[in-house]
Amino acid sequence: MTPRKITRQVIVGDDRVGRVRIGGGAPVVVQTMNAGYTHDIDACVAEINRYAKAGADIVRVAVPERKDTEALKEVMRQVNVPVVADVHFHYQRALEAVEAGVHKIRLNPGNISDRDQVNMVIDACKERGIPIRIGVNEGSIIERRDKARRAEELGKFFAGHKSGHLLALMIAKLEEYLDIFAERDFHDVCISAKSMDAALVIDIYTEISKRFDYPLHLGVTHAGTRDSGCIRSISALSTLLANGIGDTVRISYASDHIDEVKDAIEMLCCLGMRERKGVELIACPTCGRIQVDLFTLVKEVEKVLMPELELPVKVAVMGCIVNGPGEAEGADVAVFAGDRRGIIYVQGQKVANVTEDEILPRLLQECKAFEAKVKAGEARLGEKLVEIKPPDPIGELGSGAAKIAAGQVAQVSVGQTG
Ligand code: SF4
Repeated sequence: MTPRKITRQVIVGDDRVGRVRIGGGAPVVVQTMNAGYTHDIDACVAEINRYAKAGADIVRVAVPERKDTEALKEVMRQVNVPVVADVHFHYQRALEAVEAGVHKIRLNPGNISDRDQVNMVIDACKERGIPIRIGVNEGSIIERRDKARRAEELGKFFAGHKSGHLLALMIAKLEEYLDIFAERDFHDVCISAKSMDAALVIDIYTEISKRFDYPLHLGVTHAGTRDSGCIRSISALSTLLANGIGDTVRISYASDHIDEVKDAIEMLCCLGMRERKGVELIACPTCGRIQVDLFTLVKEVEKVLMPELELPVKVAVMGCIVNGPGEAEGADVAVFAGDRRGIIYVQGQKVANVTEDEILPRLLQECKAFEAKVKAGEARLGEKLVEIKPPDPIGELGSGAAKIAAGQVAQVSVGQTG
């Protein structure tokens, strides 16, 4: 992991909903966007608060019409998380949103380009201390009203280096726009430059990170459903974050946006950039050695444990003892399955050898007991008390099922066990 680039910092929010810091070394912020209409006040508030409850730090709403910015004032009164107004085409919507008390504005240089209009928005935001995200998108960077020109531009894009022409266009647009902001001495700015092409997203953000010190809002736009969009988004965003680039993220799915929040948080936890809340599940993919229905077991373990545990207890569900001990050594609670049985370990210490149908309730019992101990200060997360040593040999490429059933998996003490 490359250390994060320290960018300028912007602050989004107020006394009532709290202030979220973006950039300047602050933890990476998770954003999402409402799918519903902003003018439908009750639904809009419910949607924002639902995302906030799932862990979104900031939620964006669309304000295409006057009725949306009119509703925004009431929405702002009822939400409990900072809100961004997403403005396209009509600079007046930005002014109205500022007036309504929104916490941040997003402008698209591809469709609001009149200098005087941009200046009016900058001045209004400056007066209220509201940051602006300058968000260029691949889809709107080329003049849409001039179809012939768009075709020509895209033709050049596809003919040459895969990302070269578009990359240059997006950067040029950003530079041109940022000049307007610099002239007004307005630096309360975030930048985004999104594409649906994950490789292009990596190229663009890598380039703009070198050129600007404003905080970067990462995203892959029009990523698709969660099934296809997850890989597309995470491959780009996690690469950038691992390279020290990015201050806030939005994953975009053409499905329930709650999954955008969940997946963004999981990505940050996996990269060690956010502390996990709740159980962390490790499971083997299974293979020809498996002798229990592990897929069903893992699903049930996830379903049962997730709502029951508050602390980030690491739980391993392993199909056998071939790789199980090694994989589970870092786990707080582990089960290795054998021939229709499972042996359960707590921090490496064997606590039970149960039949397949007893695995789930016993695992839950042990996890809850372990969590209670941690809460009482009698145990610590991630502490290995005992090494698990598989019998040697475990049986010529076999599953070791008989050894597991006989309870012959050994332990080696590495510290205090009591
Ligand atoms: S833990 Fe055992 S069953 Fe699971 S994948 Fe590894 S060898 Fe196969």
